[in-house]
Amino acid sequence: TGAAGQLGQELIPKLSVLGSVVTLDRSAIDGQANAVSMDLSNLAQVEVYLNRTRPDLLVNAAAFTAVDGAESESVDAFRINAELPGCLARWCAGNDRMLLHYSTDYVFPGNGTRPYLETDPTGPLGVYGESKLAGEWAIRDAACRHAILRTSWVYSGHGNNFVLTMLRLASERPELNIVSDQMGRPTWARNLATVSAKLLQRYVAAPGDFPGGLYHYADRDAVNWFEFATRIFTIADRLGLLHQMPACRPVNSTQFPQVAERPLYSVLDTALIKETFGIEAIGLERSLEQCLGELKEND
Ligand code: NDP
Repeated sequence: TGAAGQLGQELIPKLSVLGSVVTLDRSAIDGQANAVSMDLSNLAQVEVYLNRTRPDLLVNAAAFTAVDGAESESVDAFRINAELPGCLARWCAGNDRMLLHYSTDYVFPGNGTRPYLETDPTGPLGVYGESKLAGEWAIRDAACRHAILRTSWVYSGHGNNFVLTMLRLASERPELNIVSDQMGRPTWARNLATVSAKLLQRYVAAPGDFPGGLYHYADRDAVNWFEFATRIFTIADRLGLLHQMPACRPVNSTQFPQVAERPLYSVLDTALIKETFGIEAIGLERSLEQCLGELKEND
């Protein structure tokens, strides 16, 4: 599900090595065989579809990801972020199937002083985080075979994300104010897709021994948005992606009011996924270089 999204598009080639991939999204993806177009908020329709096609593995990358929009559209946010995963999980429980699902660093309040562990208390500040946390609970309540990957600050070469927004703003404005008091770990959707495939390969090899549950995965380096933007512009400039190098000014989030409050510190600790699956977090610099390099190739 969510195949047309940032993560979904990266998942398709990675999951194809495991078997035949059927994608579900609101709009079918160009050139993708086995693409089914469906409104996933219609849970009855989703269930009918699952009963008819009986997939071996479910990977739920669909989400309502508009953090500000969720404040005014909370019913839709909860439907997709909480009720849909609950519906998928109950189907998996009843049919002995495995569900891989994604959650967010925004389940945390952001007042911590060290990276958040899977066992740390949650406390979302907004509707988006609340709805994603409710999705985690719904999956746990259904008690199906599952893995939930909490991730953070996802970017890719398509969709809505900070990297593409910065490139667009750089082409429009000579000066940019960028928030410098919120810290997290930016994660390239491609890396998250690779990690997902590794987990599922391990599951497929030995389903009975699979250590399911909740894990954090984010790329390695923690930065604030200002630092992230600076790294984006440095690499983009080197690659010839910028017409002008914008002057960037760090500002506090209080000077940059947004509808939903964001956590100031939402750095995820990824030691558990490393211990359990041997998965090392990939560095920000290398990932950004590759992502921006591909954008340049397609320029
Ligand atoms: P995207 O918003 O890029 O993709 C989500 C996809 O789900 C979109 O294709 C969207 O379609 C689809 N979708 C949403 N509602 C429906 C619906 N009713 N019917 C059919 N399809 C629907 O999300 P990402 O790839 O960035 O996120 C992947 C996962 O990672 C999510 O679980 C997200 O919560 C989590 N995550 C994301 C972060 C980020 O920074 N993006 C940070 C932390 C966690 P449409 O565009 O048409 O709505």
